[in-house]
Amino acid sequence: MPLTLLAFHAHPDDEAILTGGTLARAAAVGHRVILVTATDGALGLTSSRYAAQGLASVRAAELRESARLLGVSRVEQLGYADSGLGPVTLDDPPGQVRFVRVPVAEAAERLAAILREESVDTLLTYDVNGGYGHPDHLQVHRVGAAAAQLAQTPRVLEVAVSQRVARLMKPRGLALAPVRPVTVEVDVREQLDAKVAAMRAHESQLRSDSALPRNIDLLTRLPRPALERLLGRERFADLSGSSDPVL
Ligand SMILES: [Zn+2]
Repeated sequence: MPLTLLAFHAHPDDEAILTGGTLARAAAVGHRVILVTATDGALGLTSSRYAAQGLASVRAAELRESARLLGVSRVEQLGYADSGLGPVTLDDPPGQVRFVRVPVAEAAERLAAILREESVDTLLTYDVNGGYGHPDHLQVHRVGAAAAQLAQTPRVLEVAVSQRVARLMKPRGLALAPVRPVTVEVDVREQLDAKVAAMRAHESQLRSDSALPRNIDLLTRLPRPALERLLGRERFADLSGSSDPVL
């Protein structure tokens, strides 16, 4: 029976990196896939070429292309400002609120409205650490959990990030909380081409003005065996502890 899946993410590109294979596989077998992104990603590291064009609009176009490549039926951006990863959250830009400053109940009501409208069966969201502690990812966890309660969404799955990777990427000084055990693993090796293409659709994130390569660029250019090892499986923790397959 076709299901409706909604993936809730923090920034444009998270959908591809964290859940691209699962979304592509779900769409390929006939499920309806919806993508909701909280922020505009305007603080993403990029090159001056993209910054000059206005990074938020560049990233919105990249998000649409990534979604198209993954077979997503509907894309919504909640339009909050990127909170950044710095130790101090920047002031709000004109006419926008940084996502970490938005009351959880307010953002959750907006997400819940989509969950209800689409009768979403399964919500994909982030764990208690937001994976690796980015403030916007932590806020996705809080908002996703509250929205699922409001809309009584039947199944909630939290994206499981390798704890080794989380420790490497976390902001300095932040202690990661214990996370739920992984209960569901999706083999996405057959969807790797779509996942990599979706990751690379976020062109503005592939390089910055610095000579250092970006992880998203390096990852997507790995030889196939390494790609399969690092990106070929997506893991989730079901809030109810269920190990039923996602698809
Ligand atoms: Zn992110």
